[in-house]
Amino acid sequence: MPDRQPQVLAAVPDTGGAAGEAGEVTSLPPGSRVLLLNASFEPLAVVTAKRAIVLMLSGKAECVQAALEGAAFHSENLTVPAPSVMRLSRYVRVPYRRAVPMTRAGVLRRDLRRCAYCGKKADTIDHVIPRSRGGAHSWENCVAACKACNSKKADKLLDELGWTLEKAPKPPNRAAGGVLVLAVEPHPAWEPWLSEAA
Ligand SMILES: [Zn+2]
Repeated sequence: MPDRQPQVLAAVPDTGGAAGEAGEVTSLPPGSRVLLLNASFEPLAVVTAKRAIVLMLSGKAECVQAALEGAAFHSENLTVPAPSVMRLSRYVRVPYRRAVPMTRAGVLRRDLRRCAYCGKKADTIDHVIPRSRGGAHSWENCVAACKACNSKKADKLLDELGWTLEKAPKPPNRAAGGVLVLAVEPHPAWEPWLSEAA
């Protein structure tokens, strides 16, 4: 894909000024919003109904789920069912969403500030496989730990201490990581698409 665009904003130009191209959205309540998905069906953004129609008419996006009650957009020559959810025709790469960067605060938040080893209040993070033994500084290898457990564990492996983890550490789910921060109340019809992203 040679001309893949680097950012959502680049792929979703503000077409508010493109007069005449889109006409009026006649059957939609003012302020209607449309959930825009990437070509891969990941939620990308929430756009106004008018912008959604422009994207559809210009072939940049297609309707995935129509708005209810036969809401439609009318221009001079055609009527288009108003979308509630639509999808970009071409995949847009969003590099900053690829991974949630791992931070100490992020690990503490993910683990609800509970020590992964004893369950007490955690203030530190511990590398499950110590860095000195090649353990990565990653979501998968870091857990919240209390100071006592952390110093007891030092550069040992869990096996050597007879300790176990309740569950394998993972990156936080992407919704919690802020993949799509909705500036508007999500429409109930969007729910399947949003939960899929979690
Ligand atoms: Zn502990």
